[in-house]
Amino acid sequence: MESKDLIIVGAGPAGLTAAIYGLRAGKSVLLIEAKAYGGQIINTPDIENYPGLAHVSGFEFAQALYEQVTSFGGELVYGTAAAVGEESGLKTVTTADGTVYTAKAVILATGAKNRPIGLEREEELIGRGVSYCATCDGMFFRKKTVAVYGGGNTALGDALFLSSICEKVYLIHRRDAFRGSAADLEKLKKCTNVEFVLNSNVTKLIGEEKLTAVEVTDKLSGKRRELEVAGLFVAIGQIPDNTAFAAVADLDKSGYIIADEDCRTKTPGVYTAGDCRTKTVRQLTTAAADGAVAALAASEAM
Ligand code: NAP
Repeated sequence: MESKDLIIVGAGPAGLTAAIYGLRAGKSVLLIEAKAYGGQIINTPDIENYPGLAHVSGFEFAQALYEQVTSFGGELVYGTAAAVGEESGLKTVTTADGTVYTAKAVILATGAKNRPIGLEREEELIGRGVSYCATCDGMFFRKKTVAVYGGGNTALGDALFLSSICEKVYLIHRRDAFRGSAADLEKLKKCTNVEFVLNSNVTKLIGEEKLTAVEVTDKLSGKRRELEVAGLFVAIGQIPDNTAFAAVADLDKSGYIIADEDCRTKTPGVYTAGDCRTKTVRQLTTAAADGAVAALAASEAM
């Protein structure tokens, strides 16, 4: 493949927005995506806080973004970026299968992945009751009792969605205050089939072939009890996956990419955007904003 002006690693909202801004600045753009375009947002059942769009599903949003990118001439290849380097004055991105792509600049927009609880048998029970995506797997639990674990926007959104299709939803959270949106919390409090299990941790996954119950431990009293559930939706946050880029970008102690206001990393020509970078607010709006800033900074520097 011929060299491009801009390679964007990751086709989530940050990467796709960066592509739109790069293309509209007259640059050639290649997106390299490891899984599916849209990133984590495709797992969000209903987006209610993107300015100008009162309601849109994450999947529809991602589809529209992708079509916007391709309508401007953006290209996307599938692959896992394993290293970023430099050769003959160009940036190189090498994928896990050894393919090397070159460009004048690179934007790292790799997002973040789901944090596992770290319990025994958690991995074995994925697809057998344990899930990290309510939108993808919720329908398998129609009219059943499930639990959602977490207290952020993902957990609240998942619990709301599941309450509309499941018989009962336990919302288990390690504190009694939620970091997710107050608006969603108010809606959840009105759901008669949602039971809050607060100040509690999921401490054991129970079931042979598939999950049949979870053990929760009350942090204040130390009491343990079992909740009979067919499904556990784990929504306890995200972890970054940036170690492949440590040679070109400084990472903070949690592994997020450190960048300046213009999304520049320590290496000239290497930028970053979205949830993969050090920041306090990780929202669709801030991912899109980063994408615009990074692509404009990269385009101007060419
Ligand atoms: P998050 O905001 O980081 O929340 C993670 C939740 O899991 C927190 O309530 C946290 O508890 C809990 N938690 C973390 N580690 C835990 C552990 N080891 N055991 C038990 N509980 C644990 O993650 P998120 O909800 O996945 O959201 C990620 C980012 O995407 C956030 O910035 C969020 O705002 C954004 N997002 C936005 C939307 C939207 O705007 N529509 C939708 C989804 C996600 P504590 O509260 O006690 O720390």
